[in-house]
Amino acid sequence: MSSQLAATPKAFLINGEWITNPGDSFDSVNPATGEVNYLVSCANREHVNAAVTSAATAAARSEWRDMLPHVRALLLNKIAAGIAARADELARLQMLENGKVWSECKAQAASAAATFRYFAAACETLGAEVTPSRGNYLSMTAYEPYGVVAAITPWNSPLTMEAQKVAPALAAGNAVVLKPSEVTPSAALLLGEIALEAGLPSGILNVVTGLGATTGKWLVEHPGVRMVSFTGGTSTGRTIGMIAAERLIPVALELGGKSPHIVFDDANLEAAAENIMGGIFEGSGQSCVAGSRLFVQRGVYDKLVALLVDRASRIRVGLPDVEGSEMGPLASFAQRKRVEHYVESARAEGGQILVGGKRPVAPELQNGAYYLPTIIGGLSNKATCVREEIFGPVLCVLPFDDESDLIAQANDSVYGLAGGVWTANYQKAWRVARALQTGLVWINTYKQLSISTPFGGFKESGIGREKGLSGVRLYQQSKGIYWSMDANNLA
Ligand code: NDP
Repeated sequence: MSSQLAATPKAFLINGEWITNPGDSFDSVNPATGEVNYLVSCANREHVNAAVTSAATAAARSEWRDMLPHVRALLLNKIAAGIAARADELARLQMLENGKVWSECKAQAASAAATFRYFAAACETLGAEVTPSRGNYLSMTAYEPYGVVAAITPWNSPLTMEAQKVAPALAAGNAVVLKPSEVTPSAALLLGEIALEAGLPSGILNVVTGLGATTGKWLVEHPGVRMVSFTGGTSTGRTIGMIAAERLIPVALELGGKSPHIVFDDANLEAAAENIMGGIFEGSGQSCVAGSRLFVQRGVYDKLVALLVDRASRIRVGLPDVEGSEMGPLASFAQRKRVEHYVESARAEGGQILVGGKRPVAPELQNGAYYLPTIIGGLSNKATCVREEIFGPVLCVLPFDDESDLIAQANDSVYGLAGGVWTANYQKAWRVARALQTGLVWINTYKQLSISTPFGGFKESGIGREKGLSGVRLYQQSKGIYWSMDANNLA
């Protein structure tokens, strides 16, 4: 990156204008190399105010509010086409900023386009409902936008998560102020550019970059924001939830997880091993649904653990843009420090590092935030590493004896986002799937995700469900309308 480029901070987007904030910017760092990618402008309180005001004005305009559903659908499809046309650019920006390998970034850019297409279709299918009346009237439920939605996104998968929030919020008729993570600001900025080029009216999608504790907080506190959609850590989610409660506005929170991945002794161990690997090590374990607690029935424990250790030791950790790299760095040096701290806690609590547990030694990886795929045994379900979300390439393996022992351990967590179960017995699969206190369960597979299936957590993993047709309703409020059919009332 040339020093001239690095000296010109990236601008953020308010009311269709690109704005910089001289003297207040932050570094975007490439976690694969430790180099500064570029500077990015910080939006201050006045900028946040301008973004929310422009969104509120644009949302109230007839041009947007009364847009016919098929016209709105056309617009969302144009944004999808813009994303598809610039998929390489989007993927590259994400790779530069969070270090995910190229193939995963490309797949996520394609998924973002598909998400816009899905919600375009939703515009054309979701309507008002006529409800059973209890008198001489027509009663119905209509759905209306909140107005201004604040969307706050994390750094692990900005491409998919920004599409997952912005597309349904626009389909529902809102205007959006998007605040991406300071670690991954650029995909959101490019999405804003693509949306403008597609013909989205100015002010309907604003993107403010900056730090969470300032720009993000000011956004959530702003009286013009009528709904907040947040994905990130549970503690930030709790802070945002408290502000939303004070302001009496709805909030959707997609938070952390410590998902149990379960293998019974009758399972296909090869298939399970393959999915356990992807379930924890894809994206260097920085996934809210990572299957980070593995419960294995005692009879197959040694055999499965040997399969996993062998596979983990062969994962190709490398520069994300190098062909064949299967796992890149952590998204930031701070995140690697956090992972290292957790692995140290496991050692201190009697855990055995079965593979990994350190940084790679390859010379080309020394300047990046790399950490080897790590499997830890010998810990109880009470250990720090087993209870807390690490958000890194660390799998804790625990044996279990029978189904009731398993269910008790799997549900003994403050989290409840996802879980997986491997068994050849369909009755057991059904029983366990129903007994798990999680918002999502995979049976004989893991981390399959579809935009058409609602997604969200039980317990401290969140509130609300994104995705699916109900994902549009998340961004709407219902209105009951009673219309008398009594002719006497007309005269
Ligand atoms: P955060 O939860 O802090 O960040 C998520 C988003 O919230 C970012 O855009 C962040 O901005 C913003 N933010 C932070 N503080 C506030 C605030 N007070 N008001 C409004 N917005 C705010 O994630 P961290 O980066 O701190 O990660 C901590 C842990 O959270 C991870 O290690 C992981 O365990 C978990 N996590 C879970 C994710 C998930 O998908 N469920 C995703 C990311 C993290 P900024 O980045 O600029 O500070």
